[in-house]
Amino acid sequence: MPIATVNPATGQTLKTFEAHTAEQVERILARAHATNGALAATTFAQRGAWMRRAADLLDAEAAELAALIATEMGKTLPTAAYEVAKSARGMRHYAEHAEAYLADERPVPPAEVGASDARVVYQPLGTILAVMPWNYPFWQVIRFAAPALMAGNTALLKHASSVPQCALYLGELFTRAGFPAGAFQTLLLEAARTTRLLDDPRVRAVTLTGSVGAGAAVAEAAGRNIKKSVLELGGTDVFIVLPSADVAKAAEAGVASRTQNSGQSCIAAKRFYVHEAVYAEFEERFVAGMAAQKAGDPFAADTSFGPLATEQGRADAHALVEDARSKGATVRTGGAVPDGPGWFYPATVLTGVTPRMRIYREECFGPVACLYPVRDLAEAVERANDSPFGLSSSVWTSDPDEITALAARIEAGAVFVNGNTASFPQLPFGGIKDSGYGRELSGFGIREFVNVKTVWVS
Ligand code: NAP
Repeated sequence: MPIATVNPATGQTLKTFEAHTAEQVERILARAHATNGALAATTFAQRGAWMRRAADLLDAEAAELAALIATEMGKTLPTAAYEVAKSARGMRHYAEHAEAYLADERPVPPAEVGASDARVVYQPLGTILAVMPWNYPFWQVIRFAAPALMAGNTALLKHASSVPQCALYLGELFTRAGFPAGAFQTLLLEAARTTRLLDDPRVRAVTLTGSVGAGAAVAEAAGRNIKKSVLELGGTDVFIVLPSADVAKAAEAGVASRTQNSGQSCIAAKRFYVHEAVYAEFEERFVAGMAAQKAGDPFAADTSFGPLATEQGRADAHALVEDARSKGATVRTGGAVPDGPGWFYPATVLTGVTPRMRIYREECFGPVACLYPVRDLAEAVERANDSPFGLSSSVWTSDPDEITALAARIEAGAVFVNGNTASFPQLPFGGIKDSGYGRELSGFGIREFVNVKTVWVS
């Protein structure tokens, strides 16, 4: 994939970039490595002050950054501005809480292990590689970068090739805020050259947010080199509606979840399992809500969601719809590629989806929902878990026993009850099964890339 800014609303290439040469990569890597000792020696207070200054820069430059995000990957201006503000909040969260998250611990009275003192201390690992996607080009990076830097690690960012200007901005942000020049740097690199970085002993670990294929390639290289990896991969999250739910509210939330970011969100609801007692009402409301969404210019005020980020992404989403249609699914709304420039795709609802159709199992990274009636909670859970993925889930019911049962039985990294899945700096985020492993955010996230060191004193 060429490294370029291509406006998804027009298909126009606005700017192209050369990948870094081997010599440039070496210089960047050497600078990161040389910075590790100095950064690890700084205090939480110092790093926190730099992190807060970086958050202030994001806030001050939010308007230009929102326009840049909208131009590079097509999300609407208000949602891009929200992403920038959320990123700044995430940075301030770690500026404030990192020290407590990584405070020394004494898990048992020292005498129990024959010591005068027995502590667990958390120390930085060194240089961490981050391979990131374009869908939330700031937030995905910040939710790795803020904890990694606050823990005292240095970082290298290999961002998606379609958001190079976001990548370059982020590569300078932390130095502008006061961090040493080698603390956080961007590499402009093709995907094919990325895994080789893991063969270099100066890179100590890797985190990847992206597709299953990319995750497997990076994890394989990390495993070969005995290096820690965290994978945040795809999802086909369920949205379960049971009879005691507020069906109108659920339908509205379902539309918002499935069309957020033009349907390009890992935690968007993608499979909707609705109890047959309320199915007809839900279907009517949901289909009407989806049909009312307007895909359009990310900069226009009346746009619900923008184009898909890449031409290939739209082709992939439409291929899943066509496969389902050809095998007997009903397209209740949407499902057609519009004429004209840009990679727009309408909000689409499929019913009658069966396991023979690719979309039954595969992730559709576009605004396409599959709606299924179910007999009861047991069938909803069985269908929910009949997926290679296990990222998050959203369940709608006011029955406390059902809430308990769903929270216990759904195979996913999270269960959101009567609300859509979202990420919060205060809560762990991540999946199981093909959705990956490890956690981002909260105290769990910052502890992924540290040496958990035991100190035992006789
Ligand atoms: P992608 O194609 O896997 O790309 C993600 C990143 O990986 C990009 O920087 C890409 O670089 C790089 N990459 C791709 N193939 C690689 C390889 N073989 N070796 C090393 N690096 C490689 O994913 P995407 O299409 O941008 O993003 C959509 C996917 O991300 C969806 O599956 C979505 O669910 C998932 N996602 C997950 C989360 C989560 O938190 N779980 C969050 C957001 C998105 P290039 O751009 O240069 O190809």
